Amino acid sequence: MEAEEMQKHLAFMRQALEMAEKALAIDEVPVGCVFVKDGQVIGRGMNDTNRSLCGTRHAEFLGIQEILKTNTEDVFREVDLYVTVEPCIMCASALRQLRIRSVYFGCLNDRFGGCGGVLTLHSDKAPEPAYPVYGGLYREQAIMLLRRFYIQENERAPVPTAKKNRELKTEIVPWSVDDKLGIIPITTPQTESVNGSVSGTDTEAPSATTNGATTNGGSANGITNGAKSNGLTIGTA
Ligand SMILES: [Zn+2]
Repeated sequence: MEAEEMQKHLAFMRQALEMAEKALAIDEVPVGCVFVKDGQVIGRGMNDTNRSLCGTRHAEFLGIQEILKTNTEDVFREVDLYVTVEPCIMCASALRQLRIRSVYFGCLNDRFGGCGGVLTLHSDKAPEPAYPVYGGLYREQAIMLLRRFYIQENERAPVPTAKKNRELKTEIVPWSVDDKLGIIPITTPQTESVNGSVSGTDTEAPSATTNGATTNGGSANGITNGAKSNGLTIGTA
């Protein structure tokens, strides 16, 4: 990939990460996204399921809603989505029906992912054309946002979990993409990577590390667990 093109992808994903940061600040599962057409952001969203008590208010749906205020559905054929976490099954299907042009995500959603993490709705047989999915852009940052959320959750629990579990793990296992998932890997250039030390707390033995393919009790990629995060479980029970 050309350096200039990579810079463009990184810049849009940074905007998605900013949305996820906003979500984290108000106790939503930190997932953010931007929709881009002709080099311009035309819609953005962040997870809004806790505030709204509506399990379908995922970042992607908020962005889609914003775009459809001033566009018809046809617009999505020329739109790329940048989202910090792989779209869930619900969103992956909606994006297919809208004929999104392509999707770039940060980390895998290994519980409810619809673009390779669990199901492959982006490429399965369907009336609508398949869309290409690029995964891994600012993956470490996306994972660390989720970990910070679950640390906060544990601290607020009526019976706080043992201190050990509240420590923010910063080690992130490298991700190797299985071809069968239909995800095109897109790694962040080393110079751009912040190496997961987003919030700078202490590190310990990485018992809750993530490799994108396995699930581990809800810390890193674990997108469920706990009342606050139920938004992402919708439609998958
Ligand atoms: Zn979703």
